[in-house]
Amino acid sequence: MFRRTISLALLACAPLAAEIRSLTILHTNDVHARLLPLENRNGGFAYLAAVIRRERAGCTDCILLNAGDLVQGTPVSTIFHGLPVYQIANLFGYSAATLGNHEFDYGWPQVRTFMDTANYPVVTANLANGAGRLFTAKPYVILTVNQLRVAVIGAMTEDLNILSTSKLLEDVHTLPLVETVRKYAAEVRGQADLIVLLAHITGPEEQRVLETMPEIPVAVTGHIHSGLTEAMSRNGRVLVRVKGYGEELGRLELKVDTEKKAPVSWTWKRIPVDSTRVEPAADVAREVQRWEDEVAARVDRPLAVSKRRFAKAEVKRLIEQALCQETGANFAFMNLGGVRDIVPQGQLLERNIWNIMPFDNRVVVGTFKGRDLPAVVTGGRKVEPDREYTLAVSDFTAANQGSAENLRTTGLKFPNDVGLMRDLLMDWFRKKKTIGD
Ligand SMILES: [Zn+2]
Repeated sequence: MFRRTISLALLACAPLAAEIRSLTILHTNDVHARLLPLENRNGGFAYLAAVIRRERAGCTDCILLNAGDLVQGTPVSTIFHGLPVYQIANLFGYSAATLGNHEFDYGWPQVRTFMDTANYPVVTANLANGAGRLFTAKPYVILTVNQLRVAVIGAMTEDLNILSTSKLLEDVHTLPLVETVRKYAAEVRGQADLIVLLAHITGPEEQRVLETMPEIPVAVTGHIHSGLTEAMSRNGRVLVRVKGYGEELGRLELKVDTEKKAPVSWTWKRIPVDSTRVEPAADVAREVQRWEDEVAARVDRPLAVSKRRFAKAEVKRLIEQALCQETGANFAFMNLGGVRDIVPQGQLLERNIWNIMPFDNRVVVGTFKGRDLPAVVTGGRKVEPDREYTLAVSDFTAANQGSAENLRTTGLKFPNDVGLMRDLLMDWFRKKKTIGD
């Protein structure tokens, strides 16, 4: 009896032995202001909220993360500069989030307003202003759940400068992704049982994280809108990402070794948000309705009729046609990444154009010698090298003309601003009356 008491006392004084504790990470990315379900009836904030709450009910080891690009994509977001989206998303119960490139679409001061509005911490470790100060209040946050200390380090793609414009970013810029995250991982390691990277990053950057960063055992990402079908993993490390537009909620269940500070096992699943099978969360539905009513009168006016569905690559060509015809330019170019929605078959509303072109991009025109026209613009059509041609593009393409998805050239000047692209597109559709003849 005596001996037993002693051994128990010794045990209590001994350093904490390694423990296996469970952690469940629910996650979203690239929700893009899709307050209402999509054409395929997936998504919608009230339905996403309902699925989140169902998955969280009775869960004692759950956290909920968002990997950026909450705003931009619908009239509510464009007209009110994203703020209602942040307000409604407060009902989701996020534990933490990172910023996406599209958070900056309304200028960097508005991102400060988003961060003030969010009822959860927003962390991005590699985003700084001109004075070198961190843009978010903190690079990481330590969440405690199920007696686990989970350090969530946020990160932004190094491509931010070409995904946004200097007019919107001013002196806000990214710091090197791997080096910066590595620095904070070393700093936080002693205070945490697990480090999770929450990152708005591209495919090659995801690969770099997975292949070169053993200090990151778990990564939750976004930016690419197609979800992974299976989690990516390397040497026991795991990276997950779901579909954008609120079509899916991710659920990553981990067993974490608190001594190794790494998962010993995990399972991941993508949970569909099917609005035909879920009861919407009433409080969220009320807010969505309120904001949709605000914009309905402005955007639900009939515009034209489409005889068939146009996929995004076809919509790009429609836009280029519209740019040529509306501006009288010889050539036009639209970057595919800037086409944010399809054209459905049937009656089109002005809302469809808002969804295709949510950005307040302007149309700009320049005059160039045939020999200076980029190959992506002429597309094999014959031009005379010394003749002058006009070219219409968006101001985004003009500002980022060097990037692979734009003109792949530099030094082209587009001095003639002919107005908002969305207005131009609406005029063109309205005049056409029927699309797809
Ligand atoms: Zn993005």
